[in-house]
Amino acid sequence: MLKPDPSRVAPFGFVTDGFCQTIGRTPLIRLHKLSEATGCEIWGKAEFLNPGGSVKDRAALGIVLDAEASGALQAGGTIVEGTAGNTGIGLALVGNARGYHTVIVIPETQSKEKIEGLRAMGAEVRTVPEKPYKDPDNYIRVSQRVAEQIPNGFWANQFDNVANRLAHYESTGPEIWEQTLGRLTGFVASVGTGGTLAGIALYLKEQNPDVKVIAADPYGAAIWSWVKLGHTDIHDGDSVAEGIGQGRVTKNLEGVKIDDAYRIPDDLAMEMLYHLLHAEGLFLSLSSAINVCGAAKLAKEGGPGQVIATILCDSGSRYVSRLYNPHWLQEKGLTPNAKGLEFLDRL
Ligand code: PMP
Repeated sequence: MLKPDPSRVAPFGFVTDGFCQTIGRTPLIRLHKLSEATGCEIWGKAEFLNPGGSVKDRAALGIVLDAEASGALQAGGTIVEGTAGNTGIGLALVGNARGYHTVIVIPETQSKEKIEGLRAMGAEVRTVPEKPYKDPDNYIRVSQRVAEQIPNGFWANQFDNVANRLAHYESTGPEIWEQTLGRLTGFVASVGTGGTLAGIALYLKEQNPDVKVIAADPYGAAIWSWVKLGHTDIHDGDSVAEGIGQGRVTKNLEGVKIDDAYRIPDDLAMEMLYHLLHAEGLFLSLSSAINVCGAAKLAKEGGPGQVIATILCDSGSRYVSRLYNPHWLQEKGLTPNAKGLEFLDRL
């Protein structure tokens, strides 16, 4: 087992200079049961402990700092973004801390915790019907138009603005590498914008090109098809996971070496979600569970002795009315029923 090196662990009682400096330096949590079951070391990066509650705080801060430096975002300006929620929360809070207004365009299908939370945090929220990316009324395209119409508006453009992946290249990647004492052998992440997977992958491959980088895709997304087959034509099936499920190669994903991809069905991810809650005390989102399923699959495929990290993206508290609501689960046919880890056999 990896022994944490006390000199590399954040010292007790460390202080930060405000909200923005509190983003990052999250713990890496050993997933005991999965590590024991697979003979590997499986670790989850606790991104739900960021001050805005998700992995997207890092991208939000990176995008805002980059826009300030380039002059794209001016004092007192308005940050506009199309987001499934977490980026919006990150932008709204970074915006508050640095003196900007925030306008968020969000598909009305997203959880009410996220939509109402965004309003509570001071963002102006505009909900729009869910439309495919090619439709001019897709939420991302609407957000671009809104930004153009607002004086002093800045479109964050998280999907194609590579300041997103740069934030992970500069922070999350180095943290994971240090926290695993340079012994990491594999990294797995799902893709929304691709900023997390790409930024971390770029950093890790620079440290050791043999580190395996794997995309964990939900059904209905095309990243599995892109990695395995070189095109984005296969995106059959569906998933209830929020924040992930990409149908195209974003600028953040371009030029990144991804070694393999897995497709993780929602029913197995749901078993993992409840395993993580009941056996590890970790209350998480479905994207986190898809990530951990990917890590467990890599552990099984590559065999014992690997050191594998993945991302615990955000907290289950954002999904109480869905993922943790027995009626909703029943309606979706996703009620978990595993007694132990036997579902790993189906990964
Ligand atoms: N999980 C959740 C819950 C998210 O909101 C996001 C971001 N949309 C991701 C995973 C994926 O992160 P990224 O955009 O960096 O690919």
